[in-house]
Amino acid sequence: MAKSLKIRGHHLLCIFGFRGHGYSDTFVSNMRTVTKSFFAKGGAEVELTAECDDICRACPHMLERQCAAEEGAERRVQDRDREVLARLGLAGGQQHDATWLAALVTARVSPAALAELCAGCQWLPAGYCQQGISEYRCSADGAGRRSSRASGKADNSAR
Ligand code: SF4
Ligand code: SF4
Repeated sequence: MAKSLKIRGHHLLCIFGFRGHGYSDTFVSNMRTVTKSFFAKGGAEVELTAECDDICRACPHMLERQCAAEEGAERRVQDRDREVLARLGLAGGQQHDATWLAALVTARVSPAALAELCAGCQWLPAGYCQQGISEYRCSADGAGRRSSRASGKADNSAR
């Protein structure tokens, strides 16, 4: 049975940019597990949300199931979630196959689009997320991407 993941809208982008960096060792370990499941052959079943998710749950910035990275963060993050979901023609509460979602994200969101979608994110200048989307686009069926994820070579708002 495919692993089930709960992912907030903007994390559908972040998941492409994970390179083994993050907010704490626990966060990185959990992010590695989530990305492996997301990119695994056969894919995971993903429930979409615009609230704290399976990535946030290991984040030191989550407080009472809210992103408390800075004042007003949860509201801004939810706005970003909704913007990403709308761009993809999706909505919170829907369930989709991860492989299908990865193809949709990389078809509808160009690496250059992150400059606007992710404005203000501390990870944006590193270029990991743009690179991750670009790499996935270049692999005909995403197989190369899934392979590197599974081996742990590519490791994520997240990095
Ligand atoms: S910083 Fe990112 S991962 Fe951490 S709680 Fe906020 S939205 Fe979630
Ligand atoms: S730049 Fe930040 S918000 Fe955008 S995909 Fe990367 S980690 Fe996520």
